[in-house]
Amino acid sequence: MTDTLDPDNWPEFRQTAHAMLDAALDKMQGATEGPVWQAMPDAMKQMLQVPLPVQGAEIGAVQQQLQDLLPYGVGNTHPRFFGWVHGAGTPAGMIADITAAAMNANLGGRDHGAIYVEKQVVAWVREMFGFPADASGLVVSGTSMATIIALKVARDEALGGAARKDGVDGARLVGYASSQAHNCVARAFDLLGLGADALRSVPVSIAYEMDVDTLAEMIAKDRAAGHRPFLIVGTAGSVNVGAFDDLDGLADLAAVQDLWLHIDGAFGAAGVLSETLQPRLKGITRADSLAFDFHKWMHVNYDAGFVLVRDGAAHLAAFSSRPEYLQATERGLAAGNPWPVEYGPELSRGFRALKIWTQIATHGTQTLGTMISKNCAQAQLLADLVTTHPDLTLLAPVASSVVCFRYGDNDAVNGEIVMQLQTSGIAAPSVTTLDGQVAIRVNITNHRTQDSDMALLVDEVARIGVFIKKEFEKC
Ligand SMILES: *Cc1c(COP(=O)(O)O)cnc(C)c1O
Repeated sequence: MTDTLDPDNWPEFRQTAHAMLDAALDKMQGATEGPVWQAMPDAMKQMLQVPLPVQGAEIGAVQQQLQDLLPYGVGNTHPRFFGWVHGAGTPAGMIADITAAAMNANLGGRDHGAIYVEKQVVAWVREMFGFPADASGLVVSGTSMATIIALKVARDEALGGAARKDGVDGARLVGYASSQAHNCVARAFDLLGLGADALRSVPVSIAYEMDVDTLAEMIAKDRAAGHRPFLIVGTAGSVNVGAFDDLDGLADLAAVQDLWLHIDGAFGAAGVLSETLQPRLKGITRADSLAFDFHKWMHVNYDAGFVLVRDGAAHLAAFSSRPEYLQATERGLAAGNPWPVEYGPELSRGFRALKIWTQIATHGTQTLGTMISKNCAQAQLLADLVTTHPDLTLLAPVASSVVCFRYGDNDAVNGEIVMQLQTSGIAAPSVTTLDGQVAIRVNITNHRTQDSDMALLVDEVARIGVFIKKEFEKC
């Protein structure tokens, strides 16, 4: 028994740690093999239902349990994971996470090495999106958190900062996003005390892009009714079909109407690195704030999102408060001001910035962008295969990485096809509903996906489709 939590026997601990590293590397190196997803066995689930351990176990035994967990991920490290929008991760990210764990740094603030890595990441993001030098940014868990932070800045700007003390009672602020916007925007309205109904849902065109003319009419109507429009949220890469709103058009309107323009670019914003998608992102440099994820199309291992705010002073004004126990100094550990805690709600923060830094330093923006272009080409390839297939119908235009289609004309058959693809481990698309029709939704934000996976998917959908249709006709 020692009087710390460090190992008694370091050589033995090293051996165990090396074994775990090898197992983790095996998992990554074999990412293209085996089923995309498999249910965790009941016996393993039961092993995770034991009482709170009073006595600890040998690290070797714990390591074995960790290793046993490896096959039961979501499946997004596999080339045929096509569900929702997930990034695929990289081996380089593992090295970053090991380093971060060893440093065990808290990035709420203070003057230490990790903070300078995050500052570098913030500067790189500014450069990526052509934002000015006084724009501010913060690494966060994901776009949901980034959206809350960005909209908090927008809210406080609209209310002159008084809302930080007075609250928003009766402010009648309203904002606008397309009917295809992600639910995280409405959730941010809820959390910020504005109420989800204060987010107006703007209709979309047949390309699923926000109808800017209707938006202008809605703003005028709200003003006439005594509401206070303060925000437009543009979507760069919508979850359902991967559509991009006309960001330049929204920026023009926001300028004329004196509204804050926020862009949800959760996965699509990374498209600035891709020659294919760059044209669709024209106008993104004009946004007042931008929320996006590194863990999606830039494949940083979960989790890593980012919020970028054009007016760094406004960002600081919305979050900064330094109680007596967090006072700034010129020298020593409490220097290095302003601190990240002054740009968001979290004080203790892990070293997510390191895996972002490592990903960009290792692969560079050019290769990361090439992977995005490759996925867009694969989405077009899949769309072509669907269009020329007699039993399949394309349900929406393919703007980026998402392909929505359907086998035959029966909703239940399509839901069951996706279910069987997932449970057999062949592929993992998800399901959505477009214009009341159940769609097989394939999203390709995956650097491991190969062109051959598209043909394989179409063959399997058709094969399973024939089988299920027969089964359904029997009943
Ligand atoms: C994934 C996604 C979000 C939410 O991002 P998280 O990182 O999961 O919080 C928001 N908007 C869009 C368009 C997304 O694809």
